[in-house]
Amino acid sequence: MNDTATIVPPAVPVPPARANKPKSIEELLATVSASRLNTFHSCRLKFYFNYVLGLARAKPGAQHIGSTVHFTLKLWNLARWRKQSIPDGWLREQFDLFWADDQEGQIRWEQGEEDESKAKAWALLNTYFSQSPIPPNEPAEGVEVSVEADLGTTKLIGIIDLVRSGGRIVEFKTTGQTPNPEKAEHIHELQCSCYAVMYREATGQTETATELHHLVKLKTPKLVVTTLPAMTPKQQTRLLKTVDSYLDGVQRQDWVPSPSPMACACCEFFNECRRWS
Ligand code: SF4
Repeated sequence: MNDTATIVPPAVPVPPARANKPKSIEELLATVSASRLNTFHSCRLKFYFNYVLGLARAKPGAQHIGSTVHFTLKLWNLARWRKQSIPDGWLREQFDLFWADDQEGQIRWEQGEEDESKAKAWALLNTYFSQSPIPPNEPAEGVEVSVEADLGTTKLIGIIDLVRSGGRIVEFKTTGQTPNPEKAEHIHELQCSCYAVMYREATGQTETATELHHLVKLKTPKLVVTTLPAMTPKQQTRLLKTVDSYLDGVQRQDWVPSPSPMACACCEFFNECRRWS
């Protein structure tokens, strides 16, 4: 499809999932995602509150910035993928609707924080629109692609933000600090390996690279792209061992807490954790 067309704007944007539904042990063993693996291995008790009990808690404002940026980028990427032109003001309208849609007391704003956060989120998007390394006419392989891979012991599931032409997996991130490339590769290795395994299963091809597009929330926002090579056999083994450890822990219902200054400082289940025995 080479002709440009105009998007017919939807009446309302697709809202995000609001709260987790409690999951049975059988469900948690049948499938696994990168976010579940990350939560389980950072703190098993947090995993229990979040996934097994499905406790709904107010989310931090930073998370709402990330969700809104992700949603708006999805619309922008979909339009580019379909070679559709975006009517003036439409993207901002969708951004506003999405932002407002999640305001039913679910977000933990500090005093006077919301307006500033909203302006920050829009500034991040404008930075991305003007600095994206992806040429406007570059064809994409997919946007928000649901993928899965049968690992034998369980099924890996996930959604890839964008797959660029030639098998370049793109993941969008919002962050408060300029990422260090080596640390970014280390911190996101599990998620990138999950996507690589699922991409290979879905296409029969090896990804050429994974790009982390970090939108950095500075006074003057900036975009930092970290390009990682294709997953190595060693990284694949690390992922599979991590999945095995998850399956073993969930099977045994091992929910021991792992307190740490960083994780506990922003944990939404702090009060439940203090009461837990
Ligand atoms: S407060 Fe800390 S130890 Fe407790 S559930 Fe949260 S992250 Fe885990």
